[in-house]
Amino acid sequence: MVDDLRIQCGSCKGFAPANQFKLHYKFKKVVCPSCFSGRTEQEERKKAAVKAEQAQTQQPQKPAGWDKEDEYLERMARIKQQDLQPKVEKIPGTTLIKFNCQKCNYLFKYDPYRKMPKACPYCDGDIPNLKAFTL
Ligand SMILES: [Zn+2]
Ligand SMILES: [Zn+2]
Repeated sequence: MVDDLRIQCGSCKGFAPANQFKLHYKFKKVVCPSCFSGRTEQEERKKAAVKAEQAQTQQPQKPAGWDKEDEYLERMARIKQQDLQPKVEKIPGTTLIKFNCQKCNYLFKYDPYRKMPKACPYCDGDIPNLKAFTL
């Protein structure tokens, strides 16, 4: 009956018959037969080696793709930022402003009071609400 008693190994968390547990000099505790014979250690090392190998085969692909994606996203973000920041400049002594078309980058004079021109004279692109830039 006592021979059937299986207890958990503190090293590998596996179960083994209690009477097979032995004190291991390295673990400084009683361990299961697998751990005592070094089998557990071997398995762990094998697992670690497989893991390292997997990581190595995966690595060359992943960062390469990520770099491209990052670069792309960064470029898009930069373009967007340029788009969202119209270069608006008041023309001194007038009520007009100099305005950079956000679509074609064409620089033209704009009258925020009369809202003229209605669209970019070059590409016919929409002119955003420039109230914030009026006098
Ligand atoms: Zn064990
Ligand atoms: Zn334009």
